[in-house]
Amino acid sequence: MNRKQGVEADLHCHTTASDGLWSPRELVKEAASLGLKGVGITDHDTVSGWEEAEKAGQEYGLEILKGIELNTEVDGIEVHILGYEPDLKIGGLLEKLNYLRGARYRRMLKIIERLNTLNIRITPEDVEKYASGESIGRPHVAQALIEAGYAHSLKDAFARYIGFGAPAYVARYKITPQEAIETIRQAGGVAVLAHPGIRRLEGSLQEWISYGLQGLETSHSEHSAEDEARYRELAEKYGLVATGGSDFHGEKRKPGVKLGEWGTSLETLYRIRDLARHTRIKTELKGIE
Ligand SMILES: [Zn+2]
Ligand SMILES: [Zn+2]
Repeated sequence: MNRKQGVEADLHCHTTASDGLWSPRELVKEAASLGLKGVGITDHDTVSGWEEAEKAGQEYGLEILKGIELNTEVDGIEVHILGYEPDLKIGGLLEKLNYLRGARYRRMLKIIERLNTLNIRITPEDVEKYASGESIGRPHVAQALIEAGYAHSLKDAFARYIGFGAPAYVARYKITPQEAIETIRQAGGVAVLAHPGIRRLEGSLQEWISYGLQGLETSHSEHSAEDEARYRELAEKYGLVATGGSDFHGEKRKPGVKLGEWGTSLETLYRIRDLARHTRIKTELKGIE
């Protein structure tokens, strides 16, 4: 085992519910065998992996932090927001997720249309075959392209057909960071800025805190040691929870990103749950007033 010291919980993991390669159960089982004490399930735009993960968590004695990851955009810059432990019965999170999934599907159809005009014969069914979960995405289109012999790898498929600037590229529908943060908070969840180091997002931090941001993902597979130190400092400065996770998708999808090599303590997992509980109580009180 070559896990980084002190990691007890990997709070950023994708499963087959979105674009990960492992089922929630496989992921939890593997996390347990690595000696982790908790995992966060943070699939894109869907909560459909939660139930299976929680069952497996009970079986293997692991804490499961229920989460989602929302891709947002502001001024052309991509900003990912993690939402932990939202209550699906309050606020409009489920409606928003449904809408976003619909938008993903419509985008996939547009990509296929463009591929067809390039004389590449793949169908929505070819792509759906690879999306065993609910959130369809470009990796699934890429897999269909590989299977049909139009590309030899994911990278190749993105570079030649569906990546930014390629002929069948279609921009996706995006909500703003504000919309994501507020939707998560209204559902009693904890909003965390994911991997801020990739795009150096600290410039807007104070604005997002004013919308309800409560955490910063400091430990992440794409952060350097300097990134991590800088964001830890910022988390402390603004009183944000410092969270962490690998952004695991399965090593075949993201080579080198191993489960549990990035993350945080079990205490942080509990702290996030506590914060969510407090938000929920406040939201409920507001409803009574
Ligand atoms: Zn992300
Ligand atoms: Zn992610």
